[in-house]
Amino acid sequence: MDFTPRDAFASPRFAQVATFMRLPQSRDLEAIDTAILGIPFDGGTSYRPGTRFGPREIRNQSSLLRPYNPAVKALPFVTRRVADYGDVDVAPVNIEKTYALIEGEVARILAAHVLPISVGGDHSISLPVLRAVAKRHGPVALIHIDAHCDTWDQYFGGKYFHGTMFRRAVEEGLIDPRRTIHIGIRGSLYAESDFDFQKEHGMEVLPIGDVKERGIPYVAERLKRLKRGKAYVSFDIDAVDPAYAPGTGTPEVGGLTSHEAVSLVRLLAGLTTVGFDLVEVSPPYDGPGQITALLAANLIYEYLCTLPKRAEGNPKKKQRVS
Ligand code: MN
Ligand code: MN
Repeated sequence: MDFTPRDAFASPRFAQVATFMRLPQSRDLEAIDTAILGIPFDGGTSYRPGTRFGPREIRNQSSLLRPYNPAVKALPFVTRRVADYGDVDVAPVNIEKTYALIEGEVARILAAHVLPISVGGDHSISLPVLRAVAKRHGPVALIHIDAHCDTWDQYFGGKYFHGTMFRRAVEEGLIDPRRTIHIGIRGSLYAESDFDFQKEHGMEVLPIGDVKERGIPYVAERLKRLKRGKAYVSFDIDAVDPAYAPGTGTPEVGGLTSHEAVSLVRLLAGLTTVGFDLVEVSPPYDGPGQITALLAANLIYEYLCTLPKRAEGNPKKKQRVS
């Protein structure tokens, strides 16, 4: 099978079924090395809902993308075999059941030495993905781009929602808090003590002011200490300013520009990333032109462009067929 986007000169980009970048839809884990997995779940949302419609709209907007990225000289569909894996069939009103379904699907992907790119859905989906990742790779470093640290303890008695995943991930030993960097943090909080957990566990917090005033090279410098070892990347679209990304659950003013967001993703080149998610795109709140979903599609594409050639960082083991 040819794991490249449909040829835009044979089939115009607005035509055919909108898989991600009009790649083949496939679950043939023997044939691919990278799977784009939709997780249309928003049952962990605390404010504006609607991220269950994220994967579909991101696929739709991704039709515009072209296969060559001149800024970084990347041809990701030559260096990798990428498929749109389809969606996890989530349990819409049951977060624990959904978590089990997500973990099972991501575990299957990882067991075949395939890299999972998860498209949310609200941010609560990162926890079951990390459960599967840590079972395979052990505790990983976390690069977390978001307006919020998502390390609260609970909400109305619920331990699982889109503001608690990274506290749970530390408690469960899925991530190494000393190798965790939260990037783009801003906005009002309930209290100064909202930062206690990060301080107690040695998590690094880069507030938006650091990104804006010291720039992308400063962030690159801070990421250097994660070069050794495996890292998981979680990109909450609300890291980006609502002027560029209004379609999200809990917008915070004064955020990244879309150019800064693209530049941050490009910094991942050279790191050993074992998974990536893009979450919190809520199409019902999106602006004209579906700009949030369009940006999300671009950020996933930019991540694909950071990946090493297959066989370099991601050797595919031939499995015995009996
Ligand atoms: Mn957020
Ligand atoms: Mn978040």
